[in-house]
Amino acid sequence: MQLFEKLIDYPEAERLALKNTPRLPVVWTPLEEAQGLALAEDVRAEFDSPPFDSSAVDGYAVRSVDTEVGRIFPVVDEAPAGRPAQKVVGEGEAIKIFTGGVIPEGADATVMVENTSGWGAEFELKKAASPGQNVRSAGEDVQKGEVILRAGTEIGPPEIALAATQGYAELPIYRKPRVAIFSTGSELVEPGARELSPGEIYDSNSFALLAQARESGADVRRIAAATDDADALHAAMEEALMSADVVVTSGGVSVGEKDLVKSTLLELGVMQVFWGVKLKPGKPVFFGTREDALLFALPGNPVSAMVCFELFVRPVIMRMMGREDKHRPRTEVYFDEDVENRFGRMHAMRVNLEWTEKGWKAESVGAQGSGLVSSLTKADALALIGPESEGVRAGEPIEAIVLREEVIIRPVSKGAEMPIS
Ligand code: AMP
Ligand code: MG
Repeated sequence: MQLFEKLIDYPEAERLALKNTPRLPVVWTPLEEAQGLALAEDVRAEFDSPPFDSSAVDGYAVRSVDTEVGRIFPVVDEAPAGRPAQKVVGEGEAIKIFTGGVIPEGADATVMVENTSGWGAEFELKKAASPGQNVRSAGEDVQKGEVILRAGTEIGPPEIALAATQGYAELPIYRKPRVAIFSTGSELVEPGARELSPGEIYDSNSFALLAQARESGADVRRIAAATDDADALHAAMEEALMSADVVVTSGGVSVGEKDLVKSTLLELGVMQVFWGVKLKPGKPVFFGTREDALLFALPGNPVSAMVCFELFVRPVIMRMMGREDKHRPRTEVYFDEDVENRFGRMHAMRVNLEWTEKGWKAESVGAQGSGLVSSLTKADALALIGPESEGVRAGEPIEAIVLREEVIIRPVSKGAEMPIS
């Protein structure tokens, strides 16, 4: 089996992955399905909104110059919402109007019914009105041609409301990437299928990666695990590559004799972009492309697979969807004691975070073995301890990728201020 030619640094690997990531085509997506996605293009107002002058209250439309207290107004017509009056408001006249009704020609104000003697064929005015009073003017919300929603904006309830006021039933959004996920390894058994025989383990990676890809917003499909057999791998790989924008596999990508994933990919015409990163956990990670499809072959160790997804696959999915704004927050952290790194690779260390007067204090979650799935359930962040360093000194600031955002936005005691990058 081939050995690693050369390992590259993590920032270079991430750069190469993003450089090879295409944006997906823009699709006009129904408002009901657009929530939580981001706009691919600016959206402009098609017309002034609101489209006409309307009443903000229930009452009478009048000419403000006529509004002397004590005057009796004959009511000549009515203007409920959705049905403009037929008549115009002449001198000393009024038209009954309801909230949202079109201000009739001749009128320039609405008096609230509360400021009159009440509903009837005529009324006595109790309070004068100024020009424009209780009138919502055409175009006061948005004006024709104005950009109402910017590309990149996340679509939430207010954005949906604004789009609908302009008659948009759909919004332009990058198509969600189709991600296919499968595990490789002859020792793997589908959870729930049966008891394990000696040497077997349950396949956890495909579920973990499925969940991570879903959390990133992709359309995800899980394919049954392939055994460490060239034909099985070939078939599973080809099926995945045919139907997905991004294929994510785990296992079989290191330098063991049974590690056939890389050679199978090359046979299938995948162009290698990198294989081997100065990273712990995750050294054997492979990334390649075939036409517009991207392929990540992640190592089989469960923590390595999930960390590699965080570091490489998630940013790629975000880029495809125009969601660079959704990158995990990064923050400076320090350790209370010296931490060694003798691996010659960047250590993405699973840590807990605690806010202190000196900033975010990181503490290892405990053993850092790449098979320790339970360790990830305890981690708030990945502290990035550089490949060139021997480690970090107590108190020295380093960068961390925050996995649980709620940890850094949760209000802290002691009224301390929190930096959020
Ligand atoms: P590999 O990268 O194939 O050499 O696998 C490294 C380690 O990860 C081995 O102990 C595998 O049994 C384990 N492993 C590989 N794939 C999975 C998986 N899908 N779920 C859980 N553990 C796995
Ligand atoms: Mg294996």
